[in-house]
Amino acid sequence: MVSEIKSEIQSIRSRISSGESTARLVVESAVNSAEKLNETLNAFLQIDRTGALKRADENPPQSASETPIGISRASLLAGVPIAIKDNICVRGLQTSCGSRILGDYHPPYNATVIERLLGAGAVIIGKTNCDEFAMGSSNENSAFGPVKNPWDVLRVPGGSSGGSAAAVASGIVPVALGSDTGGSVRQPASLCGIVGLKPTYGRNSRYGLVAFASSLDQVGIFGRAVRDVATVLEVIAGRDPLDSTTADVPVPNYSAELTGEIKGLRIGFPRALFGEGLDADVRTAVESAIETYRELGAEIVDVELPRAGYCIAVYYIIATAEASSNLARYDGVRYGFRAEDAPELRSMYRRTRDEGFGPEVKRRIMLGTYVLSAGYYDAYYRKAQQVRALLREDFRKAFESCDAIITPTAPTTAFLLGEKVDDPLAMYLNDVYTVTANLAGVPGLNVPCGLSSDRLPIGFQLLGPYWSESQLFKLADAYERARPFNERPPIYAG
Ligand code: GLN
Repeated sequence: MVSEIKSEIQSIRSRISSGESTARLVVESAVNSAEKLNETLNAFLQIDRTGALKRADENPPQSASETPIGISRASLLAGVPIAIKDNICVRGLQTSCGSRILGDYHPPYNATVIERLLGAGAVIIGKTNCDEFAMGSSNENSAFGPVKNPWDVLRVPGGSSGGSAAAVASGIVPVALGSDTGGSVRQPASLCGIVGLKPTYGRNSRYGLVAFASSLDQVGIFGRAVRDVATVLEVIAGRDPLDSTTADVPVPNYSAELTGEIKGLRIGFPRALFGEGLDADVRTAVESAIETYRELGAEIVDVELPRAGYCIAVYYIIATAEASSNLARYDGVRYGFRAEDAPELRSMYRRTRDEGFGPEVKRRIMLGTYVLSAGYYDAYYRKAQQVRALLREDFRKAFESCDAIITPTAPTTAFLLGEKVDDPLAMYLNDVYTVTANLAGVPGLNVPCGLSSDRLPIGFQLLGPYWSESQLFKLADAYERARPFNERPPIYAG
């Protein structure tokens, strides 16, 4: 039953070290695919052919060689092409956050996660499209047009990190970075049929990630194989003096811990979350994944998350409150875009923000300002924070009786472009399974588990206690070996 371990990073590395290929050839082919498929997918906002090829040439094949005791972190990603969501700062490239308000902003510095990727030899091929300021679940809120799902171009790829998800699902790059504030890595991973991780809050540095809701934001990772996501986390995780919310918790050798052995691990099954609103195909696929875990020797135990029903309300109060404050800095003075011909300062602010922000961002700034206002702070914001503490408590209790919890990642498969744009509430409900992890700060991982009757990907989500990424990878890897998801979308590179 146990099939070979899947790792595209490893296969790139061995092709380079055996001389069968070179970093330049690998990167060039990724850039070619990106340019070609972008006409259909709109996954990239910028493709950096010149920079990527230059960098590939600086990655001599010998740096990818493996020593008898393993591969040094310094060359873990040598020659590996990677795509970066356009809300993470990369020196020399644009950072638009999918918004007009940043104009032609080019950050003069690298995010810490980028410094670490570059330090490990990764080659950034471009910046990916996303919902404006990472607000959305379909990528339709990008000021630069929606990304298309490589499984069906009439459908959304999910959001907000839809460009990164589509770039990985369509085979352009083996791995990509996104950001996950309420599901923006896990949900598009689910809708595109790939692996997507949101790490524990504080596992990764947020320095250089443009802030949406600072107490929820984390940089997340997409890949087509569990092992590849584990490898990238190994490279980017850990304490960063530039981000005081990163924790000084040792970073394990995640990929080396993937033994395939999960006997005796306890998986919590929150039955109540498998009820109303869950698509029948999704339910069947996730239930059959639970069966697979049982066959692999895991113990399935019933757990409850009694306050999970409040999560959407709590999330959309806290996330918008923090966003309204974080987005106050876009005033037409500090960054990029400024409205023309404003007669005086206040109207310059007003016009800049009116012309620079899209409708969803404005909706959230208004909502967030409202819940923080003097008359409503106690009724909404304070109350939401209290319920958030209870939710965290729900997880603490549940993890007393299990090592991880399994849920669907999204209630449905990829929906049609345009289907929910005019109904923000229907759109928000898409996040019902993912926002809890951000509110509680725990890690979450999407694992693809098959296709629906209309051939659209389905994923399940594993949630674990703080710092349990190793355990989540182990569980996901065991599933991947038993039920490898090797289907490819109609739009696929190469
Ligand atoms: N879809 C959620 C939202 O719109 C989550 C976004 C995210 O994780 N960045 O806020």
